[in-house]
Amino acid sequence: MSDRVAPADPALAVPGDGSLCGRPVVVATRALNSWAEVDLDVLDANVRALRSAVGPGVELIAVVKANAYGAGVAGIAPALEAAGVERFAVVWVAEALALRELGVRRPILVLGHAHPADAAKAVSHDITLTLDNLDLARALAVAAQARGVEARVHVLVDSGLHRDGVTLDEAVALAEAARHLPGLVVEGLSTHMANADDADDSFSDDQHALFAEAARRLPWIAYRHTANSATALRRPEMRYSGVRLGLALHGVVPENTPHPDVQPVLSLKARLARVTDVAPGEGVSYGLTWRAARPSRAGLVPVGYADGWRRSLGNRGEVLVGGRRCAMVGRVCMDQFVCDVTDVPGATVGDEVVLLGCQGRERLTAAEVARAADTIPWDVLASLQARLPRLFVRDGVVQRVAGRT
Ligand SMILES: *Cc1c(COP(=O)(O)O)cnc(C)c1O
Repeated sequence: MSDRVAPADPALAVPGDGSLCGRPVVVATRALNSWAEVDLDVLDANVRALRSAVGPGVELIAVVKANAYGAGVAGIAPALEAAGVERFAVVWVAEALALRELGVRRPILVLGHAHPADAAKAVSHDITLTLDNLDLARALAVAAQARGVEARVHVLVDSGLHRDGVTLDEAVALAEAARHLPGLVVEGLSTHMANADDADDSFSDDQHALFAEAARRLPWIAYRHTANSATALRRPEMRYSGVRLGLALHGVVPENTPHPDVQPVLSLKARLARVTDVAPGEGVSYGLTWRAARPSRAGLVPVGYADGWRRSLGNRGEVLVGGRRCAMVGRVCMDQFVCDVTDVPGATVGDEVVLLGCQGRERLTAAEVARAADTIPWDVLASLQARLPRLFVRDGVVQRVAGRT
């Protein structure tokens, strides 16, 4: 990971007509094959919009697992902390430690399974773990006492998802046993919904009833949380102490969910590496699964499935070149794919290709790409690999670069 400020040289400005896309980014991308632009001003605005959507008295718990949904935790987490989110959540202890290394000072909750061997590290970096067994509680108590501090844990109730967490009765027994261990503070009680963004989310009512029962039996656990982005926006009664926001922070709203005033934070871009003629009947890429029906121009895009750009998008997805939608033709390879630029007059090597985001009057969203790839927007974003440089932008100027450039 390199950390440097790119020169704000107007000669390096990427021309854009700005019609839909706002201010063009002033950045030295001329020599980049592909990159992600992460707009931190948009992220700030999304935090404000989500805070006003969930209302006062509800903390924002920023879920920054999986490299902050592919956007690059190195730029996203410090920006979210500066924007005032109260807490962070990740899935693995190692992700929490990485947040501390980035300088994050707010409370960090590990949502996933932790081991007694993680206790000392968690305590020394003030990381809150999700408790699912008493061995972990005992190890945390020992580590906390050794350092003369308190270790905090949250108990996750499985209210019907049948994934992680413990049953209602187990949660009560575990919390009561952990409560009496010296050095251990059972701070939080949580659950997670199974049908949060389904058209029919009535099962959330059943889950909520079970969670309310857990809260009634554990009235001394004051901090309660149940909601991901969809639940937070759909279910005011389930916001409790804080809402665990992932996707919505990135400006992508789950289906069947009221749309707050958020915008996509991440754009994925590349430059045409080569433009070639393809005669009628000739094929393109492995297996020659696409054949030209007319004299065609094939544009080579240096992004592949090793970057997280799905192989299932071959012959199905679209990209933007010259402000126009161009079909992805042939199979996606590990490091590159081909698009049909026949209808883009003058398309040439070095032209900007937009895979996610805006160009001229067109926009490609994560939801649209997800549909074409037969998956969900979370998967499209979280799949983006570390090989792609992340340019973190404010006021149209790159503030920080993560990854190889
Ligand atoms: C990932 C995750 C979230 C965030 O979900 P979004 O739908 O992206 O907001 C919340 N809670 C838990 C337990 C998660 O694993």
